[in-house]
Amino acid sequence: MKGQIALYDTTMRDGTQGEHINLSAEDKFRIAKKLDEFGIPYVEGGWPGSNPKDVRFFEMAREPDFKNSRITAFSSTCRPGTAPRDDDNIRALLKTGMETVTLFGKSWDLHATEILGVSLKENVRMIQETVAYLRGEGREVIYDAEHFFDGCRANPSYAMETLKAAEEGGANTIVLCDTNGGSMPWEIAEIVGKVVARLKVPIGIHAHNDCGLALANSLASVESGARMVQGTINGYGERCGNVDLIAVIGNLQLKMGYSCVPEERLRQLTELSRFVSEVANVPPMNQRPFVGKSAFAHKGGVHVSAIQKNPAAYEHMDPKQVGNRRRVLVSDLSGKSNIAYKAREMEIKLGGNGYDSQKIVSEIKRLEDEGYQFDAAEGSLELLIKKVTGQFHEPFALESFRVTTEKNRLGPSACQATIKISVGDEEEITAAEGDGPVNALDNALRKALTKFFPQIGEMGLVDFKVRVIDGSWGTGSKVRVQIESRDSREIWSTIGVSENIIEASWQALADSFQYKLSKETGAVL
Ligand SMILES: [Zn+2]
Repeated sequence: MKGQIALYDTTMRDGTQGEHINLSAEDKFRIAKKLDEFGIPYVEGGWPGSNPKDVRFFEMAREPDFKNSRITAFSSTCRPGTAPRDDDNIRALLKTGMETVTLFGKSWDLHATEILGVSLKENVRMIQETVAYLRGEGREVIYDAEHFFDGCRANPSYAMETLKAAEEGGANTIVLCDTNGGSMPWEIAEIVGKVVARLKVPIGIHAHNDCGLALANSLASVESGARMVQGTINGYGERCGNVDLIAVIGNLQLKMGYSCVPEERLRQLTELSRFVSEVANVPPMNQRPFVGKSAFAHKGGVHVSAIQKNPAAYEHMDPKQVGNRRRVLVSDLSGKSNIAYKAREMEIKLGGNGYDSQKIVSEIKRLEDEGYQFDAAEGSLELLIKKVTGQFHEPFALESFRVTTEKNRLGPSACQATIKISVGDEEEITAAEGDGPVNALDNALRKALTKFFPQIGEMGLVDFKVRVIDGSWGTGSKVRVQIESRDSREIWSTIGVSENIIEASWQALADSFQYKLSKETGAVL
């Protein structure tokens, strides 16, 4: 191992400055606990001077059963013309009771004079005095030098002077920020190297992703001697985001030989990424390096037959190292080896009803030609293979349904669904209302099934997507409905295709319930 890199998470502050990212104090607390369990040494809780929600978070975080993480409170330096002890922001910072505080100050002369409207000298005073005051109050101080790289380009000696002020004030770590995200990796590497050589205090990096270079810039900084990396889980953050700590961890630890988190925690990297996207209510990005659903997914027939001989043929590492898994996708691009692999994974025997892998491939090609898309609907694919090979026993059958939508001039529309299903010899008719026709149908089916299968209660819909397959027929076009469902153990996708959106939705819904029940009741032969 080359050395320890301190990770600093700012998902709850910089991350929430990203569009569509909102976290309540309770959400923040859940994320903080997760990061603590994972072993991130610094977790920034927020800016207590800026909003009451963050104050509430710090009240919750004061009961300290955090084992591995230090929760840090964030603030700007004191205001121009004030002493730190008289500054409201600094008071709020101390009031949180956190042992570690993060201060940001200006290192770009343009920001000091034009944005803050202070003299260069006053800016240096604010940095030096605030750091010194907080150190005097017994706090560990991380100093974030905002716009440091832009500052270096504009006025290098002044940018350096601001860092010196923080060092003289007694900062424990000085973090160089590429706040606007416009710097190149070679520039960053050179500047970080110079700063490391000139200061005694440990140096960190805080990179934004405006040029898609946050990760490259962070890794280059570490190679130049930075010992702290600030970032957010999944790269959430202002504009194009911060560096994604998930990728930072994967690269530093697995590719570059640094140590960031305990070895056994690495296997929870995928879970950590998905947990945070769940709490933030942002769909997980499939292409996310290391942890995305597609990070180790193979679709082309040539690739699939190769990885069955040796996975290293098309994988840069073993997905298990980060808790991810290899997936083989089945689509009209697939060959027999994809089906054979998939069947093994699903523990299905091929050959039933004369359906070997060859015949299943042609069936899939036929259906994909009609608009189905099985690489995005593995639940429906599993049912399909089981059905054609005679290994599926339907847990329930549809007898009929009726969906009505009523709308008048004054009110919102009202939807109702009636459904008749049979389970073995028994029939069940139920009715339910819903916000829309599909919702009403879902509610009615759920109600009917719960009587026979109470475990339906723990399953929920995660996502519902409708796509027009061929728009040339206007409202008469075929649509594809894709549903994602989950229970406490699994997420699965199902699909339906029809000219009638309700019919397509029904197919996807029915597949989703059948998939769940076939797992739970042993209904599959
Ligand atoms: Zn930032």
